Amino acid sequence: MKPEVEIYDTTLRDGSQGEGINFSVADKLRIAERLDAFGVHYIEGGWPGSNPKDIEFFAEAKKRKYKNARLAAFGSTRRKGVAVEQDDQVRLLLEAETSVVTIFGKTWLLHVKEVLRAAPDENLAMIADTVRYLKDHGKFVIYDAEHCFDGYKGDADYAAATYLAAEKAGADLLVLCDTNGGCLPTEIREITQAARAKVKIRLGIHTHDDIGLGLANALAGLEGGATHVQGTINGYGERTGNCNLTSVIPTLVLKLKKSCVPESSVSKLKELSQYVDEIANIRHNPRQPWVGGAAFSHKGGTHVNAVQKVSQSYEHINPTLVGNSRRVLISDLAGRSNIVLKAEELGFKLSNDTPELKSILAKIKEREHQGYEYEAAEGSLALVIRKILKHQEPPFYVQAYHVSMRGEAGDSVCEATIKVRVGNEIAHTVAEGDGPVNALDSALRAALVRFYPRLESVRLTDYKVRILDSATGTASKTRVLIESGDGKEEWGTVGASGNIIEASLQALVDSMEYRLMER
Ligand SMILES: [Zn+2]
Repeated sequence: MKPEVEIYDTTLRDGSQGEGINFSVADKLRIAERLDAFGVHYIEGGWPGSNPKDIEFFAEAKKRKYKNARLAAFGSTRRKGVAVEQDDQVRLLLEAETSVVTIFGKTWLLHVKEVLRAAPDENLAMIADTVRYLKDHGKFVIYDAEHCFDGYKGDADYAAATYLAAEKAGADLLVLCDTNGGCLPTEIREITQAARAKVKIRLGIHTHDDIGLGLANALAGLEGGATHVQGTINGYGERTGNCNLTSVIPTLVLKLKKSCVPESSVSKLKELSQYVDEIANIRHNPRQPWVGGAAFSHKGGTHVNAVQKVSQSYEHINPTLVGNSRRVLISDLAGRSNIVLKAEELGFKLSNDTPELKSILAKIKEREHQGYEYEAAEGSLALVIRKILKHQEPPFYVQAYHVSMRGEAGDSVCEATIKVRVGNEIAHTVAEGDGPVNALDSALRAALVRFYPRLESVRLTDYKVRILDSATGTASKTRVLIESGDGKEEWGTVGASGNIIEASLQALVDSMEYRLMER
């Protein structure tokens, strides 16, 4: 069945032009594979004319099979004054051997005259020649009308002439681009409607998020008659980024009830979003709509209490529909409901009448006064709850530790020794690291894997230090937050002390203990 709206992903091309994004060829291949499995309709793999890495990507990609998506190579119209068959950049597009080729051309006379320094007619010929040449080579041609909305505002007749040049030459799809990202939804809708009235071929919409309207503008384009949306996973892209597909897709499916990607994929949206962030080596944005860690988190006691009774009282959808989950935050705003829900989330059975609830709440408030914070440290919180509910022995005790630092051949080397007791056995280990926490982490892990091999897979993924302000009335001066993961789960732990090394060790110990915790 044909989807009502096609999804065109340009994470690997427009997205990779974002600050801090740098994909290797292997990264791009992995992301393409995931996008294909997810079910987007097109994957724009890169611009072979702009860098050798993208040429290599297409050389590798052509050896693979994509079952849902069509791969697109991206480029521009031919250069001015050069015959299309002699244009190297266009030749590289053909050599990419993709079934789809997307080219962009100029719509805005300002660009034609001031940037290209071409005559308006020459620009029309550049569009027509390139589209026709690619069609002659059997390509499905998508024509991106760059700066189309600004161009239309400048000279509507000329903008329309560029669309018609592409259509007459055989383009399969005309994509209207808000390249500078500064237009408003009403303008996008009206200008898309005007284009709809001019051409017969299908329309697409490509927006940027410069004023926070990337998604709204894409929807306005669809209202105006487009049936194809371009964007990137997590909104990567130049400046403030492209229209974010992790918002477009659930909005289309869950709010507008329009078919796009396969229905079963929507619940894998968060996973896809995290996967792409992981490959890009970017921390997942907790405030990202739909898929962020905070998208369904509840902190205020009255909210938590209401959600406990009726989830939709403070949730616009069921978070599992996009693969996300509800999180209850624990903080000084916490009431009984927060603890009960949080405990449930962490795998404990607790109700508002559980007698231990009072001591759990008291313990958390006491520790928060000392400088601990549990909002991002669910691992440590689980340990506090478990200690009160289950009265079990910890799996290990740190009996002694020592950290030192020395200069060696121009580098600084830290060394940590640690003595750990498990049952009646003692492990005494030493490790080096480029920092004290790193050395301590290695020494602790080396001591414990002998007893608990499953700790082998635990990795420290983030480490944050906060110097606490004396005005907050906390007893400790340093708070350390550690994120750990084992490939399946991620958890945060916290330590607080006047001494940064001591605070770090507490968080490290909690991290290992959390992994070993049985519920
Ligand atoms: Zn763009």
